[in-house]
Amino acid sequence: MSKNKAIVIGAGIVGLAAARALAEKGFKVKVFERNEQAVGASVRNFGMVWPIGQPKGKLFDRAMRSRKIWLDICAKGKFWHHPNGSLHLLYHNDEMAVAEEFMMANHEERGCDIITAKQALQKSTIARADELKGALWSNTELIVESREIIGQLPAYLEEKYDISFKFGKAVTRVKTGKVFVDEKKYEADLIVVCSGADFETLYPETFAKSGITKCKLQMMRTEAMPKGNVGPSLCGGLTLTHYGAFADLKSLPALKKRYDKQWTEQVKWGIHVLVSQSPNMELTLGDSHEYGQVFDPFDKAAINQLVIDYLKTFTNLKAIPISQSWNGIYAKLPGKTEFIAEPEKGVHILNGLSGAGMTLSFGLAEEWAEGAV
Ligand SMILES: Cc1cc2nc3c(=O)[nH]c(=O)nc-3n(C[C@H](O)[C@H](O)[C@H](O)COP(=O)(O)OP(=O)(O)OC[C@H]3O[C@@H](n4cnc5c(N)ncnc54)[C@H](O)[C@@H]3O)c2cc1C
Repeated sequence: MSKNKAIVIGAGIVGLAAARALAEKGFKVKVFERNEQAVGASVRNFGMVWPIGQPKGKLFDRAMRSRKIWLDICAKGKFWHHPNGSLHLLYHNDEMAVAEEFMMANHEERGCDIITAKQALQKSTIARADELKGALWSNTELIVESREIIGQLPAYLEEKYDISFKFGKAVTRVKTGKVFVDEKKYEADLIVVCSGADFETLYPETFAKSGITKCKLQMMRTEAMPKGNVGPSLCGGLTLTHYGAFADLKSLPALKKRYDKQWTEQVKWGIHVLVSQSPNMELTLGDSHEYGQVFDPFDKAAINQLVIDYLKTFTNLKAIPISQSWNGIYAKLPGKTEFIAEPEKGVHILNGLSGAGMTLSFGLAEEWAEGAV
């Protein structure tokens, strides 16, 4: 019996995860990507698989399911990855209070812990020692080098699942069972649109009605760290105000109130600072959050400076030689963790994973292919 056919549009992480999940389900899958290689949000991020940011229950489970898939793929494909865990470095009592409340509610499920300043400094060579009270340590975080692995995954998926990739092919129209590329028609039983922050080309009315929006983030990369491996991925207290995992904690509003006063500009630009390390020992730094349908294409030096100012509060880095800066844009459906729609029969949209696409896509795609979301 011949296999059912599926077409996936977009070779960012969401398209790759959807293609893999459908191939696992027995579909013969073809992927169309309009660029010669994916250059969207999926290659512009920190490469952080970050379960610690997801609330316990469905989303944390999804993140851990994704993590397992990443580890399996990285092992089989021999792709660089670093399961280095994460440290939220805490310098104030109100930050400790949030971390402790989080830990009480999450310790068993997550394998996270509050560690002493001394233990944190043993794990990280770049954590600032001065006034460090302790840290929230979690061993579930993982880094991949997204700018490499997103380009490498198509060959891996082709080899393992016989998925075929067509790069440099923009899909201009979709109808039930049909996809149009360069006026040529391709047929499939199932079509999945994973077009990231392009809401304008395919199903613009569906995107417009959904309330989905875009978010622009500014990022930087340093030169290689002279002392090599710096340890776990790092962040400071501002990150406690950013992720859903901490959102319902009773101690959070007081912390936010202090930050609103003390870090007004960082709060205004949606800045919280994360640090991951590349295989070449450079540090990836960011980020800011600006929301809208269209953005100033030019990055603001002042935003990068605000990121560096805050970075200096939790690292001992004196010189921070920046070798690259860029921005990335992701899709976000306010109040939701993904946007899934079926604008016409047999055509599905998978999108809106906002700042957690590297963390959640593989798990979400499997759940979706199983009909669970
Ligand atoms: C700066 C930044 C940092 C981030 N950091 C992290 C992180 O550390 N961890 C984490 O979990 N998440 C992170 N994220 C979020 C994550 O990167 C996104 O959620 C994810 O990359 C979205 O993937 P996507 O496939 O939907 O979009 P994209 O990567 O943008 O891919 C969409 C693809 O579809 C293609 N396409 C669109 N329309 C068509 C068409 N008509 N025909 C053919 N092809 C088409 C595009 O060319 C593009 O390649 C970050 C995001 C940004 C921007």
